[in-house]
Amino acid sequence: MQVRSATGYVILWTWAAAVTTTFFCYGAEPPPAGDLPELGKVIRTFLDKDYAYLDALYKHLHANPELSFQEVQTAQRLAKEMRQLGFEVTENVGKTGLVCVFKNGPGPVVMVRTDMDALPIVERTGLPYASQVRVRNAEGREVGVMHACGHDVHMTCWVGTARVLVHLKDRWKGTLLFIAQPAEEIGGGARAMIEDGLFTRFPKPDYALALHCDGQAPCGTVSYTEGPSLANADAVDIIVRGKGGHGAAPHQAIDPIVIAARIILDLQTIVSRETDPLDAVVVTVGSIHGGTKHNIIPSEVHLQLTVRTFKDATRKHVLEAIERIAKAAAHAARAPEPIVRVNPGEFTPSLVNDVPLTRRTVAALKSVLGEDKVVPRPPVMGAEDFSRYAQAGVPICMFRIGTVEPERVEEAQKGGRPLPSLHSDEYYPIPEPTIKTGVLALSTAVLNLLGR
Ligand code: ZN
Ligand code: ZN
Repeated sequence: MQVRSATGYVILWTWAAAVTTTFFCYGAEPPPAGDLPELGKVIRTFLDKDYAYLDALYKHLHANPELSFQEVQTAQRLAKEMRQLGFEVTENVGKTGLVCVFKNGPGPVVMVRTDMDALPIVERTGLPYASQVRVRNAEGREVGVMHACGHDVHMTCWVGTARVLVHLKDRWKGTLLFIAQPAEEIGGGARAMIEDGLFTRFPKPDYALALHCDGQAPCGTVSYTEGPSLANADAVDIIVRGKGGHGAAPHQAIDPIVIAARIILDLQTIVSRETDPLDAVVVTVGSIHGGTKHNIIPSEVHLQLTVRTFKDATRKHVLEAIERIAKAAAHAARAPEPIVRVNPGEFTPSLVNDVPLTRRTVAALKSVLGEDKVVPRPPVMGAEDFSRYAQAGVPICMFRIGTVEPERVEEAQKGGRPLPSLHSDEYYPIPEPTIKTGVLALSTAVLNLLGR
């Protein structure tokens, strides 16, 4: 269940666009990015030769996905790639994470992050290099494993960028801090790496960059959002308690299914009646489990929610309202108090791109990729734990790269076949233009921040 009309995004976006326009009208645009267009040509030429290597790496990673915090083979392969290039590699930072350092004289420390984990999905793309991997999950059930969020593209672009920067090492000064992060999909990897000393055992970055695939945009393009870009994500469990009994004698029982139904509908009033319509909120009940048979009233129903917000005050309000509404529904039905649990281990803070860093990066990307290839995009209610590095005090910028054939995007926009979203078992990027654009964009963004 999901409540938030498109109007919310549109208004938020209009506001963001207005702020941007105002800013640039007052002449605060960052300075032009110097020799970057020339470096861009050098990178393109290098990439034409290097692409075959990256293509093989991409297809290997795609066919061999691993779930969150199980990225052992993946990390080993990436460690080998980075050692070959002369990076100093530390393994097992935050369980399976990698930290790779390349020092090249005095200058800024620039962090580039990739994530490594895949999803428990049986791949149905029909690609010749599709994943055939099956593993047992925590509950002992066999699941497929698939890079359905494009983290294999991220890793390939990360290695590709390292190869470009080492190739061009006479053209820049500073320190590269390339990190391969585990468990983005369960929101635990960034925190694990920070808690394991990412910013104390290694050079602390002045900036952090990352890219993410976009399953709805044409390959060859980059999109960005200044400021708030992705939402706070909370996981909430509600155990509605009643009194079990015979389905034919409801008066002798307290039916938690009826109470759960009431709670689910009442929760939507948090979005529609309690919070500012211009402040985006989503409350989704993604799972409801209760009962075993037609004629038995169960004693418990278990609800699982995802809650999305942007502002901390709104988040606090919404989480309190969920508990209040659940308790009130139980009280109204003479039921025992429900258990409402907000899972701190599954919280992902809102991703806020640093505005000066984003503007500086966008100016550089436009100078190399072309004005029309770098476009703004509205914030969305998804979540990404790259936000944790910003919370630890590092200015961050995450941008998106298009991954789909332009004709398919056009067809979908005209009302034709819709494109599979990220996390779909049918999602696939077009490797060559996607990876080439990703490496060119990421290398340009890093070079723009390093000393010359
Ligand atoms: Zn994902
Ligand atoms: Zn992802």
